[in-house]
Amino acid sequence: MLIGVLTKILGIIGGGQLGMMITEAAKKMPEHISQIIVLDPTENCPAAQIGAEQIVADFKDKDAIIDLANKSDILTYEIESGDSDVLKSVGKNVEINPSPETLKIIQDKFLQKSLLLENDIPVSKFIKIEKIIDIKECLKNFGFPALLKARRDAYDGRGNFKINSEDEIQKAFDYFRGQSLFLEKFVPFKMEVSVIASRNTKGQIKTYPLVENIHEENILRETIAPARVTEEVTKKAEQLAEKIMTVLKGAGTFGIEMFVTQDDNIIINEIAPRVHNSGHHTLQSSETSQFEQHLRAILGLELGSTKLIHPTIMYNILGSKSFEGAYKPIILSEPNVYLKMYGKQISKPLRKLGHFNLVAENGETVEQLLKKLEHLKEKVLTQPLH
Ligand code: AMP
Repeated sequence: MLIGVLTKILGIIGGGQLGMMITEAAKKMPEHISQIIVLDPTENCPAAQIGAEQIVADFKDKDAIIDLANKSDILTYEIESGDSDVLKSVGKNVEINPSPETLKIIQDKFLQKSLLLENDIPVSKFIKIEKIIDIKECLKNFGFPALLKARRDAYDGRGNFKINSEDEIQKAFDYFRGQSLFLEKFVPFKMEVSVIASRNTKGQIKTYPLVENIHEENILRETIAPARVTEEVTKKAEQLAEKIMTVLKGAGTFGIEMFVTQDDNIIINEIAPRVHNSGHHTLQSSETSQFEQHLRAILGLELGSTKLIHPTIMYNILGSKSFEGAYKPIILSEPNVYLKMYGKQISKPLRKLGHFNLVAENGETVEQLLKKLEHLKEKVLTQPLH
């Protein structure tokens, strides 16, 4: 690390697909970033395959994180499960964004929701659970169904258990075996949506237009940009996202997941302190990709335009449910379709292996894109992955 040079060495904790796409964006900014180093336990991880240097170690390996911090000028992450106390301790020598303090709040969903509630940001009713009797008591108030959730280390729905009736309470409690928990009232939403929002180190905030997310088995399958909602709903969601970024104070790009209720209100589901799967469409749809925006935010540069130029649908390519092992990457050569495979060596059930963006041309509408998507899905799903 040389004082006085303008370019910086970027360290990223995690070198999966998000780290890979941040690396791609960083390589297009040589006037700001001279080198990229990722920390990832999988040898030749996706980011390393496209030119990032790699420290092969577990995400929580303290010595490896210190090594990465010593080698970097700025440090960021693509996963939210890092040890925020370790990051805080290495943060004296390197600039870390989003800050370990922001990470600490977000990675505990109970603290995250409490902070939102304190700031009058709408969330579903929730309550801390310590004993099984607490669940029984709270359900009298919340009613069925309700979700028992793990406070930490939960993603892609793996930290949730939906309790539909009295006799599922014990099963739900046992499922989490000693983890810290909270219970949340079920939201009978009409749509799941999200806003990708960024805040730079100087406090400038920008949000991308609201998008619609379709999940299957708790995993994001499709993102439709823009969301098929009224202007009023879009405005409400984008204003809430901006308020959240002000409250959180973290620098970087964040994914803010929300529900649209039956009466067109917005309830915040959860926040990811990193670039987000529902922002992959920005690679082709928008003036600035979420990955470039993240770098602009943590480098303290003016944020780029978030204008959506073309309606776009992002479709995730997931590993087959019944297969684990080496696989053949998908081939898809169609006009206005941008395929990105992540270079993962092994397919696992429902693992995110790649995605494609289907971009509108000549004023095509989202409805027309959805029709085209059906044909593309068939092409992708009929290609044997192994
Ligand atoms: P999470 O991991 O908490 O984001 O939850 C994964 C998925 O579970 C969400 O995308 C929703 O489909 C569903 N979910 C989570 N919380 C609720 C809730 N309070 N009401 C209804 N569905 C929920």
